[in-house]
Amino acid sequence: MRRLILSLTVLLLCCGVAAAQMRIQPSVTKSVATKTTDKPAPAPVKKKAPKPKTLPAQELFGSVLSPAPLAARSIGSYSKGCLAGGVSLPINGPDWQVMRLSRNRNWGAPQLVDFLERFASDARAFDDWPGLLVGDMSQPRGGPMLTGHTSHQVGLDADIWLTPMPERTLTRADRENMTAASMLQDPLTVDPKKFTILQVKLIKRAASYPQVARIFVHPAIKKALCDMADQVGKDRSWLSKVRPWWNHYYHFHIRLSCPPGMDGCVNQAPVGSEDGCDGKELDNWFALLKKSAIWQAQQATSSDSESAPRKRKETPLNNLPSDCRSVLTAGGNELMSSDDELPPEAVAAMDAKEAGPPLPVLTKAQLDMLLAGGDLEIPRPDRNPKR
Ligand SMILES: [Zn+2]
Repeated sequence: MRRLILSLTVLLLCCGVAAAQMRIQPSVTKSVATKTTDKPAPAPVKKKAPKPKTLPAQELFGSVLSPAPLAARSIGSYSKGCLAGGVSLPINGPDWQVMRLSRNRNWGAPQLVDFLERFASDARAFDDWPGLLVGDMSQPRGGPMLTGHTSHQVGLDADIWLTPMPERTLTRADRENMTAASMLQDPLTVDPKKFTILQVKLIKRAASYPQVARIFVHPAIKKALCDMADQVGKDRSWLSKVRPWWNHYYHFHIRLSCPPGMDGCVNQAPVGSEDGCDGKELDNWFALLKKSAIWQAQQATSSDSESAPRKRKETPLNNLPSDCRSVLTAGGNELMSSDDELPPEAVAAMDAKEAGPPLPVLTKAQLDMLLAGGDLEIPRPDRNPKR
């Protein structure tokens, strides 16, 4: 339906343009036409039947509901690849529950599923974390998604909520409607009542496994981890894997390295040995965050804040590794064509509620403070600054 509306809109737009041109034409050719009245009107140009459009990879992968029955393999890189032989993380485990089931994104390489089960169990046994709420992993055959992430394509990425798991088994409806807690009290600062030593221990645990390549958190969380690391032990080496990135303020993102010996799986360059707590990197991030927070706050107050929804970049299937075509068609799956409707499951996945609340917006006083070149000064009575 969504695609139908889109095509209709495009059609209407095209027709609008064509109609406008047609309306202009007669007045331009009028004087010529009166002189040559006996000339037959030019035959209408025959329109060629439009070539069947190859759908973007987002739609092709987003509409397949089952894994590729092939040997398990992560193919390509985290943001340009796909997954053969994906397995699903059971939606309920002894120490985890999968959220937003309508998205059907609890798929991964077997190594990711094994990892998450082990991590969930360790976190409960050693870090007092009652259980993981698991957000998006990958689609059954990986690949780019119709909504959300640019990575998560090869079955080696997983988003974990920073909200502890409740004791009870959540209903399907709970898993669609619950909102993860934001760890931020303003765009630049974590809320010490939400982001506590428990979250620090959880992230440290995740970073400590050798198969974990990187962990992504909001820059304010990275800063908080730097400040609080000494409260959870002397070792700070785990911090090097924890990288600041946009939007990870109610969940953190675990990325595994390619399993050893897996052909065609492309790793990122390994992280360096610095903890990333001093120096330019965090400073640059905070400069970016400030800019972005100022822009957001100004957008929120300006009268014409209605901005057009950003168009998603479409990936042609040919831009992915060539094996991804075989992944799509494995098991007799026919590639969706532009005449087909998206399956209702894919539409439901697109319509699923965001997992977290929107980013906090600066108050007027905070905005003025930042515009004047100052910093946000918020008393943090709960913070223990011991070193
Ligand atoms: Zn993520």
